[in-house]
Amino acid sequence: MVERTLAIIKPDAVERRLAGRIIQRIEDSGFRIRAMRRVRLTRAEAEGFYAVHRERPFFASLTVFMSSGAAIVLVLEAADAIKKWRTLMGATDPAKADAGTLRKEFAQSIERNATHGSDAPETAAFEIGYFFAGIDLI
Ligand code: ATP
Ligand code: MG
Repeated sequence: MVERTLAIIKPDAVERRLAGRIIQRIEDSGFRIRAMRRVRLTRAEAEGFYAVHRERPFFASLTVFMSSGAAIVLVLEAADAIKKWRTLMGATDPAKADAGTLRKEFAQSIERNATHGSDAPETAAFEIGYFFAGIDLI
């Protein structure tokens, strides 16, 4: 089933000028980029985006990091896009990520891990709507 997911190239990767290489990997893997934008999140916007992690011990640090610099948000489309993008990203912790994944190659730590991907259809719908209006996706 053709599906859409929200991807973020996080501030660590943008700062290190890895965005181009990550976008190339996205295209080489067969995703269609349906929308893309550079953003600089405020702390409050990062907190809203990661609201499900509010109670986690890493929430404060994560939202400081996510608002520390520019990020690139994208809507990716493919068959089974949510799982396909998470597979390409690899495990949250780069020490546990498989060879050939983006996080294995580009992440610096479990927090500064280069990319984000939605984890389910409901979160993808929320996350796409957080950054893009319907008219951007036609
Ligand atoms: P994402 O939601 O960003 O795609 P994920 O689904 O692999 O990543 P989550 O459990 O949703 O992982 O955590 C969200 C983000 O919070 C992680 O990508 C990472 O940046 C940060 N994070 C997760 N676990 C930790 C941790 N133990 N210590 C520090 N930061 C963490
Ligand atoms: Mg997640």
